[in-house]
Amino acid sequence: YEEELTKREALAAVGQLAAGMAHEIRNPLTSIKGFIQLLREQGEPNRSESYFSVILTEIERIDGLLNDVLVLARYRDDKIVTEHFPVMEEIYGVIRLLEPEANRRGIKLEQQIADGDWYIMGYRSRIKQAFLNILKNAFEALVNRGSLVSITVFASIHQLVITVEDDGEGLSRDTLQNLFVPFFTTKQEGTGLGLSTTQRIINDHGGEIFADNSPRLGGARFEIRLPLTT
Ligand code: ADP
Ligand code: MG
Repeated sequence: YEEELTKREALAAVGQLAAGMAHEIRNPLTSIKGFIQLLREQGEPNRSESYFSVILTEIERIDGLLNDVLVLARYRDDKIVTEHFPVMEEIYGVIRLLEPEANRRGIKLEQQIADGDWYIMGYRSRIKQAFLNILKNAFEALVNRGSLVSITVFASIHQLVITVEDDGEGLSRDTLQNLFVPFFTTKQEGTGLGLSTTQRIINDHGGEIFADNSPRLGGARFEIRLPLTT
């Protein structure tokens, strides 16, 4: 009986995921369709550049969404292989990726990063995606207030501990309860898949992720713990 129940729950979860996905894909598709119709009907050369840019942005959004859903579904992509890799390369890679935006927006990226030749076993691109999701959320939390993101990395016995804190809007009680639920978002343009995907990735690598508010900065604080090899 219990087995029946979990099976039914699993099916319900799949249905919810499919419904959320269909809904999320329909919005960008509607906008792509609309702009292509405009291009066909009016063919205004002076506007077409901005139409194309909306179309491309929306297509990228669908692509990102499908990528997240495949991670959530634990779809095995043969092109992505497990490897034993120096995890700091990915952490620095993500920081470098976000530096231009930080500079442009006057965001201070405080870094307390211990030096170490640390390796983890797993999917390199997914781990990078997980860091990027956390840092992007921090940046997005600074739209209305705050301008500081603090990144801490250190290793304790066989574990890498990464914390990302910001002085943005912080997490309400409702948000704290639903953060990791697929499609939960408080943002106008959010998909609500970033943290559920991140949690799935971290768990699949034998790690854990915790969320709370930062007593020091007043915004959100995320802590990721990943098991190290060697
Ligand atoms: P999305 O970013 O698309 O909304 P996520 O799964 O990445 O989806 O995040 C879910 C929700 O968690 C966000 O909508 C936001 O309410 C909250 N959140 C995540 N990170 C932060 C943060 N650093 N500060 C404040 N709220 C956050
Ligand atoms: Mg996000």
